[in-house]
Amino acid sequence: MQVLNGKRASVGRDKFTELSTIIKISNIIGYLPLNLEEILDSVVLEVYRLFRPYTCSIHLVKERGKMELVVACGPDGLDRKERYHKSCFVERCKTLRDGLPMIVTDGDREFCENRVRHKGRIMSHVCIPIIGGKEHFGTISMESLRKDAFTTWDLEILLAIANQISLAIQRANLFARVEEEKRELEEANREIRKLNIALEQKIKKLETLQMRLLQSEKIAAVGRLVAGLAHEINNPSSIILNRIECLLMEAEEKGLPEEVLQDLRVISTYAGRISSMVRDLLVFSRSHVDRHTPVDIVALVRRVVDTFREDRKVEGFDFPIQAEPDLPKVKGDEEKLEQVFTNLVDNAVDAMAHGGVVEIGIGRSKARDGFIEVRIRDKGKGIPREILSKIFDPFFTTKRIGKGTGLGLSISMSIVKGHGGDILVESEPGKGSTFTVLLPQA
Ligand code: ADP
Repeated sequence: MQVLNGKRASVGRDKFTELSTIIKISNIIGYLPLNLEEILDSVVLEVYRLFRPYTCSIHLVKERGKMELVVACGPDGLDRKERYHKSCFVERCKTLRDGLPMIVTDGDREFCENRVRHKGRIMSHVCIPIIGGKEHFGTISMESLRKDAFTTWDLEILLAIANQISLAIQRANLFARVEEEKRELEEANREIRKLNIALEQKIKKLETLQMRLLQSEKIAAVGRLVAGLAHEINNPSSIILNRIECLLMEAEEKGLPEEVLQDLRVISTYAGRISSMVRDLLVFSRSHVDRHTPVDIVALVRRVVDTFREDRKVEGFDFPIQAEPDLPKVKGDEEKLEQVFTNLVDNAVDAMAHGGVVEIGIGRSKARDGFIEVRIRDKGKGIPREILSKIFDPFFTTKRIGKGTGLGLSISMSIVKGHGGDILVESEPGKGSTFTVLLPQA
């Protein structure tokens, strides 16, 4: 703290000292990269050095009409803690109220004495308003314990200094406003970026929804077409199959040559395949669910697996089932759900050309609350990434003609969706696939 002796305030000044103080203050305000607080400290110090009063202070108008002491200088140096001066209300400051400088030299107590803390009696007082345009920023004032301590010339000098302070305050306000606007702009920018991300996510979601809509429209259209065609083909194909069976029996009875019998058997096999395909198509076209009853899913899956075990075509396969105990029932259509698991186990078997284990796990879903999941896991050839998104499309198949119809998964998906569930698939080419059927609990 710089100690200055107010008692030596009567030291004489010459014009040169006054001018050099004004220039110094002007330089401090104009060129030094200081903040407002530092500028005001320096100004008060310079004013104190020039006039040597008892005290010198700067008050600025802050919120709610209050004038706060920003800095003062007295016999013990710079002060911000109201040792010499108090803060006060604007309405009690005559200078600021009138917007005019004031000088008191004969101890007249009419001035705003309430701002000055002092032990002795203040005899001289000069107070200058700091004004910028219509705005009243505050005051710069000096007090002396001596009578006639200040002249009107002093008033003039202090006025010039007050104008400089006003410029510094205006500049600081401007900077603060620019900073504030910069902050607001940055904040707005951040908001815009956030909104942009949210918008992008919404667009992606919409695109997915649109794709799904297209997909379901496609399936619905195909369903209608298939339903019509299947009805048309079903009857003739049943008749053909029937007649061929009759022909075959007749031919055997009449002892026709083996080649004829063989031809008839081939025709019968293919007619049978047409018939089963048409049945598949009919199921596909009616895959919406209409009969919902509580279904014991473990018993249902066991039934499906038993039919596979009895089938000689799947010799060399094992179908172990791991079921969580006390599972709640699911609500659904038994027949259609059987069809779903038959399709999935069938695909698992097809994926393992040389036999193997198809593991089946049944339990409560950890990912979806209130759902039962059935996992069918094979260690077959797996599904290449590029076709993973297509396997649920109707008529998509990689199996040879006559073997696959490409309807199994799309029928299964539409049945499960009709139950309010879902089918998820994970697959690693060369290692196998897991199909997870999610069904809501009853
Ligand atoms: P399909 O069995 O008649 O071909 P799906 O709709 O049941 O018709 O299956 C479509 C395609 O999905 C199959 O051709 C096959 O390429 C693939 N796929 C389905 N399940 C599996 C699986 N477990 N392992 C490997 N590929 C599979």
